[in-house]
Amino acid sequence: MLKGKTALITGASRGIGEAIAVEFAKNNADVIINYYSDRDEAQKVVDKIKKYGVRAIAVQADVSKIDEVKKMADEIQKEFRKVDILVNNAGIAKDRTLKNMTMDEWHAVINTNLNGIFYVTKSILPLIPEGGRIISISSIVGQYGNFGQTNYAAAKAGIIGFTKSLAKELGKKKITVNAIAPGFVRTAITKDIPFFRRKMLNHMIALKEEAEPEDIADVVVFLASAKSRYITGAVINVDGGLAI
Ligand code: NAP
Repeated sequence: MLKGKTALITGASRGIGEAIAVEFAKNNADVIINYYSDRDEAQKVVDKIKKYGVRAIAVQADVSKIDEVKKMADEIQKEFRKVDILVNNAGIAKDRTLKNMTMDEWHAVINTNLNGIFYVTKSILPLIPEGGRIISISSIVGQYGNFGQTNYAAAKAGIIGFTKSLAKELGKKKITVNAIAPGFVRTAITKDIPFFRRKMLNHMIALKEEAEPEDIADVVVFLASAKSRYITGAVINVDGGLAI
């Protein structure tokens, strides 16, 4: 579905980002894997997706640092000239109740999960041609809140406002801008959730199981493809019925 397209995925060294990279490659897109700290894992993803016969490279950049993001955009411009599909996926969590949250925990999450999306989108936008796609990974926590996640919820809600506003700005260029709000996905970010809380969460999900990263990736492929040409400014919940 994505032959001839080039995609940049932030935070693609593992988890949901890695699954998106693999699904893009299966659909014949060339893929740029952005990572922050784990060069070996990013290289493993590159090696894995090259098996599908597409071009793939890994580019290091901390999305919360504008200088690093600009450098990444320059590298991409030299290598690929254009980015048809941008997936803003990189994200972190630093959970604590507001009463105990430190300034560093607040700023780290806002800087990575929200400012990072502004830095990456602004720097990559000149490379996105007409008909391009911008897809950002929000969370149902941005819509409903969650105990101990004021920083994360504020950033993820910010992504939704950003998406809807940018969709209005870029519609005339036929660039669509959408967000996905996952529920509870089996990745490193959720691996420390204690057994009983995990059981309780699974019980609250209509489909009675947490998502696999591929469940999110499949919807990203759809939003990246021509099949979604009339969808923009949307937030698609992929949560197995957790937030209904
Ligand atoms: P994950 O397994 O922890 O992976 C996070 C990825 O982000 C890694 O590739 C990491 O790179 C990268 N990253 C972290 N900080 C970065 C930075 N400053 N600059 C560039 N890359 C950075 O997380 P995940 O569960 O796949 O989450 C992916 C996205 O989905 C996040 O935005 C998350 O908030 C969202 N989400 C997840 C869930 C869930 O239940 N898992 C639910 C809703 C939304 P390195 O490994 O190189 O450091």
